[in-house]
Amino acid sequence: MPKILTNLKDLGEGCYINEEWVISQNKKYHAKRVYLKDLTESESFSAFYYPDATFKMNLVELSRSCSTKCRFCLLSYNYLPPRWIPTSKFAQMLEEFPVGMDLGLIGGSILDHPDIKEIIRTTNKCKVINPSSIKISTSFYDTLKLLREKGLESITIAPETGSEELRNRLNKRVSNSDILEFIKMLNELRFKHMKMYFMICLPFESAKDILETNNLLKQSKELFDGKISVTFSIFVPKPHTPFQDIPIASKEEFRQKAKALEIPKGINVDIGHYNGAKRQLLYSRAGEELGYAILEELCNHKKIEASLQMNKYLFQLDYSKTLPFHFIDSGVEESFLEREYLKAQKRLLTPHCNPQMCKACGIC
Ligand code: SF4
Repeated sequence: MPKILTNLKDLGEGCYINEEWVISQNKKYHAKRVYLKDLTESESFSAFYYPDATFKMNLVELSRSCSTKCRFCLLSYNYLPPRWIPTSKFAQMLEEFPVGMDLGLIGGSILDHPDIKEIIRTTNKCKVINPSSIKISTSFYDTLKLLREKGLESITIAPETGSEELRNRLNKRVSNSDILEFIKMLNELRFKHMKMYFMICLPFESAKDILETNNLLKQSKELFDGKISVTFSIFVPKPHTPFQDIPIASKEEFRQKAKALEIPKGINVDIGHYNGAKRQLLYSRAGEELGYAILEELCNHKKIEASLQMNKYLFQLDYSKTLPFHFIDSGVEESFLEREYLKAQKRLLTPHCNPQMCKACGIC
């Protein structure tokens, strides 16, 4: 491993290629994130296909980051600035795939790609085209119609919550009437399955917000004739986002909120596990001591929870100010993240990225 790392280090600067950091204990380094400014250089597509894999399709990455900058979102904040794969590059990657397979388009807000219709039309060799994430907007009618004509039956949307006020705090600019109009449109286009992603125990979330989620679910069920599946993830603060420093909700808060959810009959629901959410947060917040705790669990069956002071990582605000992941400089200024958190408190929105004009976060 040290030899591989040394060779990688010779390639240039980067947070994952400093062999001293990887093999030295108790030393503090700072590492600057490196990223491709131009995705013409990107080669992100399925290199091989395995029939027993979860995704029975070939995947191509179409974008990095997302201009919306939802304040909880790892994908948006950790990969800024937003970039698209050029259409010519997409066509080149597509050539590598066999004829007749399904295709998955990976990235944030896929249908916003400036050439999305052309991209869909040039995929004749593929069967169904699956966009991984789409923004809720009726302006995508023509694009969704094209996807439907090519055989797409299922669409995933992420309202996150039924409360408009809370959604604004997350910097998600979509109203409940936008969501309902969009669902009506999906029904008109005869989509057979709609998956809806929500979060529970979000920052600033009140009991009233849960009631509004119940209401949105009820209205969605009335508008959509096909199958509806709903997933509730427990909110986990993500590194390098405006919510990175805040504690996770207590188990009691999660229990009460989950109990208050009313899922209309006929909707399939999946609610996240509290212990899983706790572990996710632990993995992003703990330092090298976590490595030893994992070894203890694997070799001596001693639970990680018994090796570490869990409360420190999950609930203590003073600890979170010195989180181990801060040694990585993502390029987004800490002051920008702090301002975004204050704006969330005041329910203020931040505009979408405009790299030609904007210098707000320090990346462009
Ligand atoms: S500087 Fe502005 S446009 Fe560029 S990534 Fe940051 S917020 Fe987006």
